Amino acid sequence: MKRKVSKNPIKKKREEKRIDKLKKAGRIVKGVEIPERALAANPDKQNCGAEYAVKLSYQDIQYICAGCGKEGVWSAEQQKKYFETQKGNIYNKPKWCYECRHKRIQDKHEEK
Ligand SMILES: [Zn+2]
Repeated sequence: MKRKVSKNPIKKKREEKRIDKLKKAGRIVKGVEIPERALAANPDKQNCGAEYAVKLSYQDIQYICAGCGKEGVWSAEQQKKYFETQKGNIYNKPKWCYECRHKRIQDKHEEK
């Protein structure tokens, strides 16, 4: 009986093609494949002091608002904008829903 060839050249080629396609689509960030449901990040644009903290991809984050207890979702698109365009703190996590955050800002203004 013949031994199975462990490194199938057709499969290998197919895998290379797949990786190539992912690279062209921007789905490989710093050599890491981005999960299908995640949004690819651009680590070079992030405001990050330490290399290990960079985000390679974003996924929707579910959270409970610390103010009203409402469930919220911080979408991958919002995170990308926050970290890469607004240069937000890389360690920040969602805590307040939009209404509560807005109210807090208003309250702070009124105190002054
Ligand atoms: Zn809230």
